[in-house]
Amino acid sequence: MRVLITGGAGFLGSHLADKLVDRGDDVICLDNLFTGSKRNIAHLLNAPNFEFMRHDVIDPFKVEVDRIYNLACPASPIHYQYNAIKTIKTSVMGAINCLGLAKRVNARVFQASTSEIYGDPDLHPQPESYWGNVNPIGIRSCYDEGKRCAETLFFDYHRQNAVDIRIARIFNTHGPRMSPEDGRVVSNFIVQALKGEDLTIFGDGMQTRSFCYYSDLIEGFVRLMEQDRTIGPVNLGNPGEFTMLELAENVIKLTKTKAKIVFKHLPQDDPKQRKPDIEIAKSKLNWEPTVPLEEGLKETIAYFKELLEL
Ligand code: NAD
Ligand code: UDP
Repeated sequence: MRVLITGGAGFLGSHLADKLVDRGDDVICLDNLFTGSKRNIAHLLNAPNFEFMRHDVIDPFKVEVDRIYNLACPASPIHYQYNAIKTIKTSVMGAINCLGLAKRVNARVFQASTSEIYGDPDLHPQPESYWGNVNPIGIRSCYDEGKRCAETLFFDYHRQNAVDIRIARIFNTHGPRMSPEDGRVVSNFIVQALKGEDLTIFGDGMQTRSFCYYSDLIEGFVRLMEQDRTIGPVNLGNPGEFTMLELAENVIKLTKTKAKIVFKHLPQDDPKQRKPDIEIAKSKLNWEPTVPLEEGLKETIAYFKELLEL
C-alpha cells in the first residue's frame, strides 16, 4: 500500500506512520509542523519506505496513493484557538483537498473526526446516532464545526462521487509523543507533576473524560481503514470514565510528586461529561481498548520523564 498521512508528524500521526512503515507500506507524511515535530518522525527519516513532505493541508497536493489518513489539525484547545480561522480552514479545506485527491487517484480516505462533534452532550454515553449539542459561535466552534463540516464533506463526496470513505470519531487519547506544550489535560498534569508545579484543574474537576491509550486507538484506525463492513462514523475511545479530579489524583500518585492541585477558571463551553458508546466498533471492527488508564499513564509519565530529563 502507498499511504499518505496528513498530520503525520503529530502525536497520533507519527504512531500511525510507525505501524504502517513496520508492516511494509510506503508512507508519505505531510505536515506543516504547527503542533507536530520532526522529533516524532526522526527515527523514520532513513527508512526507505518513509518520506516527509512539509506542506500545508489547506494548499492542494497531488501524490499517487492507495490510502489517505487525514489527521492534519491542531487538537488541543489552546492550539486550535490560537488561530481559529486557520483551524476551520484546516478542517474544511484539508478535507476538500484529501477528498479531491482520493477521487482523482481512486484512494480510500480516512477522516480523524472527534468526540467534539457531540459538543457538550446531553446524551450519555454518546452513540454515533447522536447529533450533538454544539455551540456554533463559541471559542471551541472553529474546531467542532470544522470537524462537523469535514464529516459532511466526506459523506457528500461519498454520495455524489462514490469516494471510498472511513470516519473515526476519536475520544481523548494520550501517550508518548504528546508535546509537553500541548495543553491537553493528561500532558499538562504529567508535566506539572514532574516539574513539581501545581496541577491546574479547570472548574471544580467534576467534569469527565474517557482516556484511550494511543496503541489501542491506532489499532482501531487500521481496522476501520482495512475492512468493508462499515464506513463509519465509528466511535473509537476507551469507555472508562474519570473526573479530572480523579485523573489529577492518579497522576499525583503515580509520579509521587509533592505538587498540589489548584483550581482555575473553567473555559467557555467545556463539555461536562464524555464517554464513548463503542458498540459499533466492537461489532463491526471487533475492536475494544485493552490498555487501562493507569497502565497508559505509567508509559506516558516515563516518556515525559525522559523527555524532560528528570
Ligand atoms: P497533534 O497536534 O499532535 O497532531 C496534529 C498534526 O497536524 C500536527 O503534526 C500538526 O503540525 C499538523 N497540522 C496542523 N495543521 C496542519 C495544516 N494546516 N497542514 C498540515 N499539517 C497540519 O494532535 P493529535 O492528537 O495527534 O491529533 C491528530 C488528529 O486526531 C487531529 O485531526 C485531531 O483533531 C484528531 N483527534 C485527536 C484526539 C486526541 O485525543 N488525540 C481526539 C479527537 C480527535
Ligand atoms: N483541563 C484541566 N486542566 C488542564 C487542562 C485541561 O482541568 O490543565 C480540563 C479541561 O477543562 C477539560 C478536560 O480537562 O474539562 C479535558 O481537556 P482537554 O483540553 O484535554 O480536552 P477536551 O476538553 O478537548 O476534551
